[in-house]
Amino acid sequence: MTRLVIVGGSDAGISAGLRARQVDPAVEPLLVVADAYPNFSICGIPYHVSGDVPDWRDLAHRTRDDLAAAGLDLRLDTTVRSIDPASRTVTVTGPPGREETIGYGRLTPRD
Ligand SMILES: Cc1cc2nc3c(=O)[nH]c(=O)nc-3n(C[C@H](O)[C@H](O)[C@H](O)COP(=O)(O)OP(=O)(O)OC[C@H]3O[C@@H](n4cnc5c(N)ncnc54)[C@H](O)[C@@H]3O)c2cc1C
Repeated sequence: MTRLVIVGGSDAGISAGLRARQVDPAVEPLLVVADAYPNFSICGIPYHVSGDVPDWRDLAHRTRDDLAAAGLDLRLDTTVRSIDPASRTVTVTGPPGREETIGYGRLTPRD
């Protein structure tokens, strides 16, 4: 198994994770996401504001369970502060402001 760290969990991050699993099921994507709303339709925000989509939760393309079932591991409310390619680690700040170093096998699908 190879851990693939992906920074971000919106359209690009989720697409990268799903595609990586499709190409190589041995990859374990870990998505580090600064916010708590993975795979939400940002483009849908105007529809929520206008009232066409009353419940903001309906803006999610997939639930967290869907994402877990697809093999994506999520670290929400966690911000990547630095990337060290030499040691293959990223330094993150988690929810309580705690700093942590996470190792990776790959940082991009072709790394
Ligand atoms: C109101 C609105 C309406 C839109 N309507 C349309 C539309 O109709 N059609 C269209 O094609 N596009 C539309 N867009 C644009 C579309 O939403 C963006 O192109 C798309 O969201 C970009 O996706 P992304 O994954 O690249 O980046 P983003 O959606 O910006 O996501 C960035 C992700 O990275 C995370 N992140 C950032 N920094 C860090 C960090 N240091 N550590 C960890 N995580 C981090 C964030 O938390 C987030 O998960 C709209 C945008 C807005 C705001």
